[in-house]
Amino acid sequence: MDENVNEILSDLESYLRYLKEMGISYFLASENRTERTTPSGILTLADVRKELGDCKRCKLHRTRRTIVFGEGNEKASLMLIGEAPGYEEDVQGSPFVGKAGQLLTKILQSINLPREEVYITNIIKCRPPQNRNPEPDEIRSCNPFLVKQIAVVQPQIICALGSFSAQTLLQTDIKITALRGKLHDLEGIQVIPTYHPAFLLRNPERKREVWKDMKKIADLIRKG
Ligand code: URA
Repeated sequence: MDENVNEILSDLESYLRYLKEMGISYFLASENRTERTTPSGILTLADVRKELGDCKRCKLHRTRRTIVFGEGNEKASLMLIGEAPGYEEDVQGSPFVGKAGQLLTKILQSINLPREEVYITNIIKCRPPQNRNPEPDEIRSCNPFLVKQIAVVQPQIICALGSFSAQTLLQTDIKITALRGKLHDLEGIQVIPTYHPAFLLRNPERKREVWKDMKKIADLIRKG
């Protein structure tokens, strides 16, 4: 794996260990979702957004129009994490609002999950020029904010959308075809990768697999 990616992941691991040492155990999946509380001192999403501010921590601030922080239910059971904002997201300031986003909304509807019920964000919060892949320093700069978003939301399940998101979250270079549809663990949170909706727009014959993955997610949420 790329050395830079290893370094980021090692940073993330240290940060998670630090949080644990502070007595913050919210990465462990809660037995009873209704009794889940945010431990005192843990931030709200608004606090995390405030801390992010008018971020200039990496070079993307020079080309972005808007920071696309994420949106949805702060107490969502399902958190969806994509790669990075695209053109429409950069213009509108919301994640997954372009063509791929419209497909994502339909996919969620297919398992009776209104978009407002889930929480949606990306690995990085600013659009890379020409939608190129996020670079290691950009991921590193954004990562503490993603970690905090996960810590606040405490989702039962994270659905990693696409290869980039899945490989970054799971610290692996295993292909998305092998990762998708399977349950993985991220500090006690169940992660299920699936294909990115933009990939589905180009390869509609793969929708059936995503449907299976989403059904699995819906079943797990139903069981709680
Ligand atoms: N693709 C992503 O990965 N995220 C978005 O927000 C939009 C498109």
